[in-house]
Amino acid sequence: KLTAIGLAAAPFANALLSGTAKAADLVSETDPQATALGYKADATKAEKRTDATALCSNCNFYSAKAGETSGPCVLFQGKLVNANGWCTAWAKKTA
Ligand code: SF4
Repeated sequence: KLTAIGLAAAPFANALLSGTAKAADLVSETDPQATALGYKADATKAEKRTDATALCSNCNFYSAKAGETSGPCVLFQGKLVNANGWCTAWAKKTA
């Protein structure tokens, strides 16, 4: 009986672990800050974007390693933005 309980509890342990991993979730476009900044996960869908080369991946506030599809942005603490995303705070990467 104890074994059965152990097995039944395992999925919950997994759920808790993945819950922790989700602390750095992708920013949702409907997130209040995202709407305020006009953030789009797909830069081509951002109406205010005028520079076709501007992407989160070449933004000064983005800090993921090259080749990663998402990464942290200074403006969205605790969340990840899409490498191909864009928002109105975009500033060309200087380093
Ligand atoms: Fe992307 Fe830069 Fe806007 Fe952050 S500040 S969401 S990295 S464009």
